[in-house]
Amino acid sequence: MTNFLNTLKYFFFFFYFSAIYNLLCIIFDVTGSIGLRESVYATFLWLIPILLFQKHAKKIAAYIGIFLWLGSLFSLNYFFLYGQEFSQSVIFIIFESNLVESTEFLKTYFQWWIIPFIAVYSFLSYYFWKKLPGIKTSSKVIYLFIVFSLLVPFHKFLELYYVEKKPYEIAVYKQMTRMQASTPWNIVLGYVNYKNDLNQMEKLLERNSTLKPVENLKDNYKDEASTLILVLGESTNRNRMGIYGYSRDTTPNLDKIKNDLILFDNVYSSRPYTIEVLQQALSFADEKNPNLYLNKPNLINIMKQAGYSTYWITNQQTQTKRNTMLTTFSKMCDNQIYLNNNQKQNSYSYDEVVLEPFKNVLADTKVKKKFIVVHLLGTHNKYEYRYPKDFAVFDNYRIDDNRLNDREKKYYNDYDNAVFYNDYVVSKIIEDAKNSKDSTALLYLSDHGEEVFDNKNVKKLGRNEDAPTLSMYSIPFIIYQNSVFKEKIKDFKSLKKYTNREYSSSDLIYTFTDLAGLNFKEFDSSRSVINEKFSEKPVLIGDPSNKNKLRDIKDIRNL
Ligand SMILES: [Zn+2]
Repeated sequence: MTNFLNTLKYFFFFFYFSAIYNLLCIIFDVTGSIGLRESVYATFLWLIPILLFQKHAKKIAAYIGIFLWLGSLFSLNYFFLYGQEFSQSVIFIIFESNLVESTEFLKTYFQWWIIPFIAVYSFLSYYFWKKLPGIKTSSKVIYLFIVFSLLVPFHKFLELYYVEKKPYEIAVYKQMTRMQASTPWNIVLGYVNYKNDLNQMEKLLERNSTLKPVENLKDNYKDEASTLILVLGESTNRNRMGIYGYSRDTTPNLDKIKNDLILFDNVYSSRPYTIEVLQQALSFADEKNPNLYLNKPNLINIMKQAGYSTYWITNQQTQTKRNTMLTTFSKMCDNQIYLNNNQKQNSYSYDEVVLEPFKNVLADTKVKKKFIVVHLLGTHNKYEYRYPKDFAVFDNYRIDDNRLNDREKKYYNDYDNAVFYNDYVVSKIIEDAKNSKDSTALLYLSDHGEEVFDNKNVKKLGRNEDAPTLSMYSIPFIIYQNSVFKEKIKDFKSLKKYTNREYSSSDLIYTFTDLAGLNFKEFDSSRSVINEKFSEKPVLIGDPSNKNKLRDIKDIRNL
């Protein structure tokens, strides 16, 4: 029994280094409790050398402790400075941004209490070590416990690979992601993943750089100083936006400027997933030719070819395995501003962080032609992490839908609040575009929709390509132009007669280059929703790797 208690003391000593940081993340609502739980599992690993070499237990604990203490300092300091969790993205940022920027940042965000906090934290770790007892047991049970301690930290891998029969790579990747919540794996695995993803990205960029540019490129706007903005929203179903007719007033700000907006009300995404959609929307790829994004120049390439300076401002996570493609797109731009380095998507980083850098880019008068991509977190789940408390205007008790239980009603309301906040951010961006002295046009769309109990027949939440509903694909698609643009370049008022054209965002590249007044051999006017030569064709949805699975959006209208 004493030995059990003594071992427990070692356990808590090791756990301490991950626990403080993870507790802070929970208390300050940066992320949920999963990190803390995973740290408990990962801590078992350190008990193995302690139990195997009991004679030197305390000495070994000291070495491991120093190692863990150092690793935890990274997470803690990062959390104090940025208020975000430490992740692989942070390592990416450290290697990407130059040192001057980092020191300037330190000067701005450093607070005096960080030093005493770290001092007390470090002293306590020494104190706990000092208090560690010796261990002496020859019980055979110890070997069972060692095997247990070896298995527990890798529970996710074992579960996925042996129980759920998932592919090895996926099981390893998920295991690594889990372990990154605890130190020193935050640094070790973060770096390994960073290197892998970087490799993948470099291959994609290398391939992109060897592509033949589009042919006979002509700019109809010639030397006119112009700014073209593409705002990519996230998980927003247009039917939950007041401006599109939703019963709740979720978009009061956009409503106020409704007359200045060209509101397309029949646009759909081809897929319900960010990366898969953007691979098509930003390139010539579509449901029938999903790989063209690799083989032909994309929207960024074309804008650059046309002489635009290109910017990518994003509040989406910078670097996770899933997001390598997004980061690759961003790296094709001349300038990148990464604002969200969290590891998990249920961490908050409000979209208003894009406003200031966006304003700064607009204000730069030295650059004549700008193409700015603003990528928002929009209304991605978890919805409650997407808006500040002031924007929680729709509460639990206003829905008279008896199908939903209290938890589901909360999701429903949280989603509307997220849309409400998204309205604030998007309309602020439009306001800045309005005040820009250059001719400025903007296109806002969401990457895909989201089902949040909209369907009356089946209760569903989220997105699933195998069980599609219209809400997962119905997206806002809004064009705005400022007065300078209207005066000097073109007044798009005439477009209002086109706003109910049925259209897939996989053809976005044609509409956007049309908006930018570009013409080139590969341009197809019948695929630009703002072109008079547009011709409607079926909007296809589904996984293009299985051609038989593609279906017309009309087929799911009544599902
Ligand atoms: Zn998305």
